[in-house]
Amino acid sequence: MRRHQTTEPMRRCIGCYHSRPQSELLRLTYNGSAFKADTDIRNEGRGIYLCRNDECIQKSFKRKAWNRICRSAVNTEEIMRAIESALNEN
Ligand SMILES: [Zn+2]
Repeated sequence: MRRHQTTEPMRRCIGCYHSRPQSELLRLTYNGSAFKADTDIRNEGRGIYLCRNDECIQKSFKRKAWNRICRSAVNTEEIMRAIESALNEN
């Protein structure tokens, strides 16, 4: 079995909870009021990671991962827009 030979930091997907190299995941941030795509890893705020597939995106909503991050009800459309722009910019 081959292992990753990268020194990249591993991050955990909020949909499936698997850890993967940071560059394989979508990165978003939550700055206290809004979720944003974070493609250059420069935005301030809490980093949020997701695999690039619909399944994990759906799972993240089912598990209410977003609600846990912001500790309140979330605007699903706003999050979907952030996810889509993260997908498009990578
Ligand atoms: Zn995942």
